[in-house]
Amino acid sequence: MLKVDIVTLFPDIFFGPFAESIIARAIENRKIEINCVDLREFTNDRRKTVDDKPYGGGPGMLMKPEPLFRAVESLKNEDSYVILMSPQGEPFKQKTAERLSVEKHLIIVCGHYEGVDERVRDSLIDSEISIGDYVLTSGNLPAMVVVDAVARLIPGVLGTDESSSSESFSEECLLEYPQYTRPEEFRGMKVPDVLLSGNHGKIASWRHEESVKRTKRRRPDL
Ligand code: SAH
Repeated sequence: MLKVDIVTLFPDIFFGPFAESIIARAIENRKIEINCVDLREFTNDRRKTVDDKPYGGGPGMLMKPEPLFRAVESLKNEDSYVILMSPQGEPFKQKTAERLSVEKHLIIVCGHYEGVDERVRDSLIDSEISIGDYVLTSGNLPAMVVVDAVARLIPGVLGTDESSSSESFSEECLLEYPQYTRPEEFRGMKVPDVLLSGNHGKIASWRHEESVKRTKRRRPDL
């Protein structure tokens, strides 16, 4: 079982996305445990201060180091891997999700405001992860993205273990081939004959060719 602690200022945001469908079932079946940890509980002033002005001036507020260190240190054990969501981090890829899915305990720190005091990066975090080259208001959505991508790779979370192995990005960096379900003909658009042929060898090679074509056309960078 993978345990995930998400350190955030807005723990309630996570109830929706993790309360439905595949992730909810994974939690119920004890494949993954997700705890949302309220950073304000790790402040010790009456106003529960988590942010402050940057030294040297500049816009916005930064997250103070003390509550973050206290929160992470209270959650951490020898199996923990600590991640900071950050637009400056390593780009999140399927490979990253695969690597994280075999960990025992993830602690995911969500930034807010203008970001975090640099000392958090320097000595509290094992790795920084970015979900793309754009800036969001907080690390909450990025944390959901990471947990969702990681959770579905845990054996037993998807219906059959196979359903994640032939997907886009998983094999030789190819996008997935086109897929069809019933009806055989819809508004004049027909399912390719080869898929109805029952010839598994032919189907496999058609799918591989389509994957290669599609990847060349859409994502030549892969
Ligand atoms: N001033 C910072 C951005 C702050 S955005 C900078 O220029 O680097 C506020 C918080 O949102 C960040 O601390 C981070 O936790 C989260 N965040 C924003 N965009 C993100 C992205 N693309 N990937 C991961 N986290 C992101």
